[in-house]
Amino acid sequence: MSAKAPPPYPVKRMCLKDIDDVGHLLTIAWIHDLKWRGDELFLTLRDGTAVKEFKVVKGRELLKNLPCESIVQVKGHVKKDELKIEELKVIVKAPGKMPIDIRNPAPEDVERFTKYSYLVLRSPRYAKMLVVQQWLVYYAREFLIGRGFIEALPPMISPCSDPGLRGAKKLRTRLYGYEYELMSSVIMFKQALASSLERIFFVARNVREEPADNLKTGRHLCEFTQIDIEWAFASMWDVMKLAEEMLKYTIEKVMDRCKSIIEEFNPDLKAPSPPFKALTYEEAVELLRDHGVETPKGKELTQEGERVLSSMFDEPIWITHYPKTSRGFYYIEAPEAPGHNRDFNLLLPKGYGEVIDGGEREYRLDKIIERLKLMGEDPTRYSWFLDLARIGIPPSAGFGLGVERLTRYVLGLKYIWEAVPFPKVPGIAPTP
Ligand code: AMP
Ligand code: MG
Repeated sequence: MSAKAPPPYPVKRMCLKDIDDVGHLLTIAWIHDLKWRGDELFLTLRDGTAVKEFKVVKGRELLKNLPCESIVQVKGHVKKDELKIEELKVIVKAPGKMPIDIRNPAPEDVERFTKYSYLVLRSPRYAKMLVVQQWLVYYAREFLIGRGFIEALPPMISPCSDPGLRGAKKLRTRLYGYEYELMSSVIMFKQALASSLERIFFVARNVREEPADNLKTGRHLCEFTQIDIEWAFASMWDVMKLAEEMLKYTIEKVMDRCKSIIEEFNPDLKAPSPPFKALTYEEAVELLRDHGVETPKGKELTQEGERVLSSMFDEPIWITHYPKTSRGFYYIEAPEAPGHNRDFNLLLPKGYGEVIDGGEREYRLDKIIERLKLMGEDPTRYSWFLDLARIGIPPSAGFGLGVERLTRYVLGLKYIWEAVPFPKVPGIAPTP
């Protein structure tokens, strides 16, 4: 092709969102829907900016035998919602019936939904979710950067990742013949970075092979994202306050920026109003017992327990001071509650459950080794981190916030697999 050849498609194509009442139309779009109502033909076009329905008053024959999801270049005229097609060029012809209904992909059929995730994301509903998710991450970043936190790029693999996973398994790979793990969480790396910049965060992807049974919770993925912060010399109460303010800021900003989407998805959403109520783990266990839910001794609250607690409140609620034996090796024991950590979970209300997990970190080498042994871990696998602790790490506190869980809550989605492109869900493989 000569350098002077014209581009194959119009340079100045119009976006559907900019097409108003009257005028000339030149666009490229997907055929989202095509149906007869009586003797009138309605064409719904979709592009990256909008979905629009037109009544076709001229050029109907050009649409004959064109299946939905075909990509067409349309030239014509629009008057109100009436479209006169002058010219139609087929850019990609779809093969016919789609394996999933893109206008309404049913998330309750999780096998199909995840198998065809590459088509599901074309649905207008999914596209709106992606937009909201972008703004959630954007405003969380804006908030943290405004508070002096520096964002770093997260690692993906390491010889040792976080072992405190509540029954989930880590995934492994190899590098130059050595066994590596994919990041289940970046906790140790956060502590290392906090030794440099003091206030840091990652937007980190984590992978975990969740027990297949966790599909039922509707809030577990095998690949998810944490906004993961660490703050040197801060206490657990400092970071809890930071998390409260960050949630309020982020949700308020998104409610404003994505007003019409939130009104469509979740009209009852309220921005949270800190400070949130806090229960200690022991208080939560008692409260659950009153409601007929038992918690196994020395263990985290059960999924059912979390769901029940989260259903009792209409604001987020903190649970603090979990038993030492129930959680990761990296939490520090609370002087005010021996046998318990200085740690916390934030439960979202209305049954949405845990969204934030964090606490104050153990930074003393001998205590870290003691805790690793208590958890049945082999300390030699954590050699780089122990070498670092031998040199010295600052006391710090931090937390991780699950982005897909927050998206699910903000949009009132029934299932977390509606809150991420290309979901990997417990017990189902292979998926894209
Ligand atoms: P954890 O260290 O397991 O407590 O994870 C920290 C945060 O990441 C949690 O509070 C959740 O918001 C999120 N998270 C953890 N596991 C999952 C999962 N399987 N699917 C989605 N989000 C998760
Ligand atoms: Mg947790």
